Amino acid sequence: MKHSYILLVLLLCILSVSSNVSAFFPKDHIAYTVNGFNTVNSPITQRCAPYLDLVLDGNNGADSGILHYGSSLVTSYIYTHVKAGYEQGLIEAGSNDKKYCLIIGEGLHITQDGVSHLPGGLVETYLKKFASTNYAGHMTVENDFTNKHIAQLTASNDYAITSGKLNYYNSIYLDNLIDIDGQATEYLKMFNKIANLDLTTDVLRIRANYQGADFYSATAKSRYTGGIPWWADAVIVGLLLVSLTFIVLIIWRGHSYWKWINVAWWGIVFIVGIVLLVSLLTLTFWSLLTHIMSITSSLGYLSVSQADVQHFSSVAQQATNDFLTTGQLKTLDSTGLSYCAVQNPATGVCTTQVSGALSNAEKPSKWIFYGLLMPLYLAISIYLSYKSFRRRKK
Ligand SMILES: [Zn+2]
Repeated sequence: MKHSYILLVLLLCILSVSSNVSAFFPKDHIAYTVNGFNTVNSPITQRCAPYLDLVLDGNNGADSGILHYGSSLVTSYIYTHVKAGYEQGLIEAGSNDKKYCLIIGEGLHITQDGVSHLPGGLVETYLKKFASTNYAGHMTVENDFTNKHIAQLTASNDYAITSGKLNYYNSIYLDNLIDIDGQATEYLKMFNKIANLDLTTDVLRIRANYQGADFYSATAKSRYTGGIPWWADAVIVGLLLVSLTFIVLIIWRGHSYWKWINVAWWGIVFIVGIVLLVSLLTLTFWSLLTHIMSITSSLGYLSVSQADVQHFSSVAQQATNDFLTTGQLKTLDSTGLSYCAVQNPATGVCTTQVSGALSNAEKPSKWIFYGLLMPLYLAISIYLSYKSFRRRKK
């Protein structure tokens, strides 16, 4: 029991550095948007109702850069979450109705994410409440929110559920971004331009893991080519190699019963590596991730109250309807991140620093993680090695 808990914590730590998805989860974005189109009658909804699938792929496609959330390429995520990226999209779309509706989807995404990531928003509130890091807590909060939000919609016979539209659009998630050969369509090319990065491999990977299946043969082929981000794969291979090396070394050179405790300690790392590798190969990574997060929430950590689910979903629905009615994007930046917006190209010095609510909310937890948990983990590892390799004098 104790071991399985350690495994869970460790897995969460590793998952938190190897993958971060954002904001509201796809099902929430779909529900707000489907309901918005069902209630609002405006120039936007009239023009885009025939292309609701494109609106929704634009909406969820805005998160395509998510695999770079923890790296310097986070700009690809930022660009699709700020008003400037949306406005660039509108220019790219020109008079093309389908492309315009894709970008309307991006505008909806920015609008909806703002309700989660900005001061007083869902994730910001819960990171503070539970002193969690953004990496570990962000998706856990939103996963719990999604589960409860969809349950509430189901219980109240909400239109998104009874019309079958939530299920339907969820099942064709991001299909418009990739063609039958696994290549970027003209729609994904627009996102690539806005994000300033080729996101084709990212979208293949995210989409295949979310849908839990390869619909196109090309998806399987490209699952590991391009390897974005390369270090996510390197982390898994590294975990396996390092833990296996230690296990062999301990069994070979170690002694006393301490060596078996040490083997068990590194065995946990090895098992985590195997589980991650298998889940990626079998496209069950997303399902594994949401299961682990659901277990965490069911233990009470980062669990969203029913009242807050109701509150934040109605705020997000209202913001969605307002945007569809007026076409005015009120959210300038929905990332919630602190980053350098303008850098002096000559000196490399940041001239405009943006301060984000999520980055600020996680500050206390960084001390707990880097100041307490990491040193504790290292201390246990060193102590076990000392005990199992120490030469005793006879
Ligand atoms: Zn997002």
